[in-house]
Amino acid sequence: MSRLAIKGGTPVRTELFPGYNTIGVEEEQAALRVLRSGVLSKYLGCWDGDFYGGREVRALEEEWARYFGVTHAMAVNSATSGLYAAVGACGLGPGDEMVVTPYTMSASATAALVYGAVPVFADIEPDCFCLDPAAVAACITERTKAIMVVDIFGLPYDAEGIAAVAEKHGLFVIEDCAQAPGATHHGRYAGTLGHIGVYSLNYHKHIHTGEGGVVVTDDPELAERVQLIRNHAEAVVGDKGVERLDNMIGFNFRMPEIEAALAREQLGKLGGLIAERQANAAYLSDQLGKLEGITPPKVREKSTHAYYAMSFRFDAEVVGVDRHTYIDAVRAELPASRLREAEGPLVAEGYVKPLYLQPLYQQRIAIGRGGFPFAGHPGALDYSAGLCPVTERLHYSELFSTELMRPGMTRQDLDDVVEAFVKVHSNLDELRDGRP
Ligand SMILES: *Cc1c(COP(=O)(O)O)cnc(C)c1O
Repeated sequence: MSRLAIKGGTPVRTELFPGYNTIGVEEEQAALRVLRSGVLSKYLGCWDGDFYGGREVRALEEEWARYFGVTHAMAVNSATSGLYAAVGACGLGPGDEMVVTPYTMSASATAALVYGAVPVFADIEPDCFCLDPAAVAACITERTKAIMVVDIFGLPYDAEGIAAVAEKHGLFVIEDCAQAPGATHHGRYAGTLGHIGVYSLNYHKHIHTGEGGVVVTDDPELAERVQLIRNHAEAVVGDKGVERLDNMIGFNFRMPEIEAALAREQLGKLGGLIAERQANAAYLSDQLGKLEGITPPKVREKSTHAYYAMSFRFDAEVVGVDRHTYIDAVRAELPASRLREAEGPLVAEGYVKPLYLQPLYQQRIAIGRGGFPFAGHPGALDYSAGLCPVTERLHYSELFSTELMRPGMTRQDLDDVVEAFVKVHSNLDELRDGRP
């Protein structure tokens, strides 16, 4: 086989991979329908018939609740807003702790800080990358009020293991399902496995409206509190006769009508998109799994994976080169994808830096300049390097991920991805001998 591209050889492919675009004529018509109505948002921030929003928002919520099998769905303007509202609805406040994974998008953890509570980071499973129930159990104190689980990369968290810890200590389970809409566990949809769940409709997710999110729950009190936080709670609770006032400082987390109309069309496409991701991922797992030192993403027993990304484990000892050298060589063989040209090939080392290593936690500056809520928190807090060794090992040396299983990739496209890995694997000597 030819020389590696990183050593001056010809890359496996230079023609861009297809872009991932779920927006079609259905969304165009839905947006036009709303534009022509002239009603782009119907919400009123007071206790009125329009407190719950307009036609499209309410229709989306009904359809979303039916699809995912829950009694309440609340549209919001992002999953970040949804996570904030969910934590507020659960009643967290200063002095409280929320156990969360450090291997997630930052908002999963900051949702606690917004209410003056603190995140406590527990380590993750070495093979499934979600919160490890044993690590969570070791973090519980009398101040713990909730566990924020994340269905990272598209795989549902260990629902039984986490529920056992939560039930023992009377904790809320908040499920950040931004990366796993349509994944299932024991036949139930991810996002509905805890007390309250949050989906994202951000541009980078499986289905999207540009920005957007949906919160789901079967608990009527949590649902009402999310609806209040979403829409100026403080201006509503008096007239609505709401007695419980904690965290009833509202926001404007409302989803506009065009986004709701788009989301209704996107929801209709979700099942097909997930099936295509699963088929592409199965092929890549099968092919790349044949390479020594590469372990394809594990699918938890009784779960299905929604493949927001495919995360592989890389064993540098077996391969004989370090992950950085290897992935750099693979990337050199592959092109970028349309719509995301600037990111280069969609193959990456690690995911996000473990959250506790962010300046926010290292310097303990969150709200105001006095260190609130870290300073004065009644319990000990640890955000030091080494806190979650499994996460750090995965992030800094073992995990690599790709989004190249996205719908739109043909078998030929997938074969080019496989060929890049096979080529690097067959020419490892070139990477070892230090030639320019
Ligand atoms: C994308 C993402 C979010 C935030 O979603 P937005 O809709 O962009 O606010 C939260 N958590 C996880 C795990 C995500 O991947």
